[in-house]
Amino acid sequence: MNSRSQITKHISRLRRELLAWYDQTGRTLPWRIRPEDRENGDVPDPYAIWLSEIMMQQTTIAHGTPYWEKFLKRFPLVSDLADADRDEIMAMWAGLGYYARARNLHKCAQIIRDEFGGEFPRSEKALLKLPGIGPYTAATIAAICFNEPTNIVDGNVERVIARLFAESAPLPKSKPLLRDLAAPIADPKRPGDYGQALMDLGGTVCTPKTPRCENCPWQFACKAFEAGNPAFYPQKIKRNQPIKYGAAFALLCGGQVLLRRRPDKGLLGGMLELPGSPWDEKPSAQPQSFAPVDRNWERCGEVKHVFTHFELRLEVSRAEISTREKTDPNEVWVPLDDLSSFAVPTLTKKAILLANKD
Ligand code: SF4
Repeated sequence: MNSRSQITKHISRLRRELLAWYDQTGRTLPWRIRPEDRENGDVPDPYAIWLSEIMMQQTTIAHGTPYWEKFLKRFPLVSDLADADRDEIMAMWAGLGYYARARNLHKCAQIIRDEFGGEFPRSEKALLKLPGIGPYTAATIAAICFNEPTNIVDGNVERVIARLFAESAPLPKSKPLLRDLAAPIADPKRPGDYGQALMDLGGTVCTPKTPRCENCPWQFACKAFEAGNPAFYPQKIKRNQPIKYGAAFALLCGGQVLLRRRPDKGLLGGMLELPGSPWDEKPSAQPQSFAPVDRNWERCGEVKHVFTHFELRLEVSRAEISTREKTDPNEVWVPLDDLSSFAVPTLTKKAILLANKD
């Protein structure tokens, strides 16, 4: 019997043990309705769940939770978010990264207000049509909020499933296979709890480097545990991160810095940056030709920033002027002590910090 059929014969027990573990030790999160909450009559709020799922992608719960709290306080209803000014949303999102998510968040809220009367659609299929909602988020909202039996698979779940089956095909190519392996195990009776349980298992027990198999409800069936090498899974195709170079210029005046808005489409779309050169695989031969004004620019050093597909090395220079000059409509003077009120991403903050060091 191969490992797949050995595991699939345990499906009922895998579901039962995982849900029992979740009922006892699953995480309490501010947006989560736990089984005991449900018994008290609480129901999940699709708006709060959607916000949490979009925000917690690519970041930790500890980092993302204050953003979730801040957004819900400022925009208690999806229609409040839809009515908001996009610049305010971008400024509140600054620091969470992947800024296309913030733009899509706004667009999605407007569609829900305008086309769905302020109510989230209730099926995975309909949710998938909304901007910024991919297969994982659609499956999660449909299962948690509307009890639809879906197959929730994120990076944590991929890791658990790869280990359970000792599947050594490397990511990302193995994603469809891992999804197929996960599907028959998903519990159709408690789809939301099952999905959250599996994500909790990956987030707290079956962790990337040192899984705590002694606390795992799936140890009895786990092929990687049986082989004694859980951390070997999942394998990943290694790729060398390309490096790009750019030059950025911090023009300072009376405690303010000149920033410009990036184009709406693309990386850091709609966010503010220091004026500078395009980012290229070779450093620019004449970086100063991209400076906002002709000055004696003082070089401050280099900022390194890692994006998903490349590493950026940004050479930062600074100049101080005594009178602010007229700016392009795409540029804005921003107080150095109030960067958080503007759509200033982490990269720009790092560059400004370097330029403004004594
Ligand atoms: S037994 Fe260990 S490797 Fe297997 S699923 Fe559990 S924590 Fe992960």
